[in-house]
Amino acid sequence: MKIEARRLLKEIYGYDDFREGQKVIISSVLSRRDTLGVMSTGGGKSICYQIPALLFRGITLVISPLISLMKDQVDSLKLLGIKSVYINSTLSKEEYIEAIHKIKSGSVKIIYIAPERFENEKFSSFIGKLDISMVAVDEAHCISQWGHDFRKSYLEIPNFLKKIGKRPQILALTATATPQVREDIEDKLQMRESFSYVAGFDRENIFFKVVRNVVPEAWIVDYLKKNPKKSGIIYASTRKEVDNLYSYLKDIRGYNVGKYHAGLNEKERKEYQEKFIKDEIKIMVATNAFGMGIDKSNVRFVIHRNIPKDMESYYQEAGRAGRDGAPAEAILMFFEEDIGVQEYLIDSNEETEDSLKKEKRAKLDVMVEYAYLESCYREYILKYFGDKRIKNYCGNCSNCKSFKNVEDLTIDAQKVLSCVGRAKESIGISTLTNILVGRSDSKMDRKEYNKLSTFGILKDREIKWIEEFINFLISDGYLEQSAGSFPVLKLNERARKVLKNEITVFRRIDEKVTFDYYEDPLFENLNQLRSEIAERENVAPYIVFSDLTLMELAEKKPKNRWDMLKIRGIGNQKFKNYGEEFLKVINKFSDEEMEIIHRDNLNEERYLEEQRIEKLKEKLNLKISNDKLRDILLKTIFLK
Ligand code: ADP
Ligand code: ZN
Repeated sequence: MKIEARRLLKEIYGYDDFREGQKVIISSVLSRRDTLGVMSTGGGKSICYQIPALLFRGITLVISPLISLMKDQVDSLKLLGIKSVYINSTLSKEEYIEAIHKIKSGSVKIIYIAPERFENEKFSSFIGKLDISMVAVDEAHCISQWGHDFRKSYLEIPNFLKKIGKRPQILALTATATPQVREDIEDKLQMRESFSYVAGFDRENIFFKVVRNVVPEAWIVDYLKKNPKKSGIIYASTRKEVDNLYSYLKDIRGYNVGKYHAGLNEKERKEYQEKFIKDEIKIMVATNAFGMGIDKSNVRFVIHRNIPKDMESYYQEAGRAGRDGAPAEAILMFFEEDIGVQEYLIDSNEETEDSLKKEKRAKLDVMVEYAYLESCYREYILKYFGDKRIKNYCGNCSNCKSFKNVEDLTIDAQKVLSCVGRAKESIGISTLTNILVGRSDSKMDRKEYNKLSTFGILKDREIKWIEEFINFLISDGYLEQSAGSFPVLKLNERARKVLKNEITVFRRIDEKVTFDYYEDPLFENLNQLRSEIAERENVAPYIVFSDLTLMELAEKKPKNRWDMLKIRGIGNQKFKNYGEEFLKVINKFSDEEMEIIHRDNLNEERYLEEQRIEKLKEKLNLKISNDKLRDILLKTIFLK
């Protein structure tokens, strides 16, 4: 990896390290090879072409079908101090002329283009004459008829490539591609001796969960209540379902929600979408028509109110949560009656051939199996996509979480119980503990407990742990304790089953409570400032800084420029633009915090002082008030 690329990553983007996939892909690109990179949503594909674009002499063209994302990308780059433009059908004539002008002036490093533009001969030949170093094809799977997102306009790309004087290097990027589609991409784009890299599909920061047997609306409201400040998407399978849930949440429960489905007119859809992106509406209720081409990185949860038709759709939709890498949740709500709805949608489609219907049903079965799964959700998903890197236990899905919270302590229990048996059921908790840790005293010696085979059998455990464990065995019914003033421990039926290995002893471990930044007052202040800046700059808040960056700011509380540049997501340009404003908020907050701590300390001092005064009064047998004595003492500097 070129040192230069790392330097740019730190200085411009404020990140210390490339992710594994980025490292490999960028190395390949910089060695001037045609490259195909497959990386999941949120994996960081943009940087794979942006950093090489900065290092190459000429211009990098980025071809993307996602028109709505182009403005986002160009906005983001602007805040990073990189000159780029986009050309698509949303530009007015004036804007178009301005963009062309910028390109001609030679100041632009990256041009985003919608593939439809290449249908225009004149435009193609204009672009073809520029000094183009690289063509990055985003969402490259759209060129393949085998893929699930084929776009005819993508077939214009090969023709266009021929028009460029000197053949540019090609970088194809996508989040979804089977081997067949991958081959097709390389073939259609006529990539030469290309290098291809498939990154893992895992989205580590997303917590997967399935909810069954609940009242759906009540559950959703409860969830929203518990997560009041977070932004999220709730997917439902039909327009009607979306309308109902939307009205319920908005009109009856008073939530500020938006909605999105194909039945709304263009203007309405655009309005809701825009508000959602800008965090003016936190929650979006939508059909699967919503989301393609939305880059909002601070979506904290995606809830599916109904089961989606297949795992491909589910993972794509759920994957819209947490693109910034900060903790996020993907929750599937499952109700048996929803299976019927999906089956109906498959069967009633007359255009679908029978064999294809069968295939679709099989895909639905996979989803249903997922909904009933009792093992790791992530493992199941990744296995489905052919990524076998996770085995059995991910630790970050609701099934793993519930495993994680119980410990199998059968062997320890057997040691304790057999010790009770060997001591002839004549001892209490403290003697039992002493035997188990192997602590000897005259009483133990006299009774010859130190000769038992179980003497010291738990010497690796702490005494406190053993005592607690014995109490647990009693309270969970594995041991009986006799009544009276010297209670002794007795084995019961359950204990005998444990000793015979017929039952297992599980104990819950206390769940670690993860810190919720959305409840942190400093995070809230920083979030507020981010919204203000976003409004001023007319961009979405997450483009100013990601949630992850805000979280790090709230946690590390940098005091100066130097510390601030160590925060992920803050490079030179962003610091120059907003650093001081954020520092001000942090410092003000820290000052206030210091004052509270100071006040607490003062109270503590005051308390100690009172105590000293009381003592003194007692000693001298004085019958005056504390204040009075303090007065006298102050005058005589007696106190300290
Ligand atoms: P994709 O296009 O693959 O969905 P993006 O390029 O939008 O992903 O990147 C997703 C998020 O990850 C962005 O918030 C981006 O700033 C962040 N990111 C990218 N590369 C890194 C990195 N090396 N270290 C930390 N965060 C990164
Ligand atoms: Zn798991």
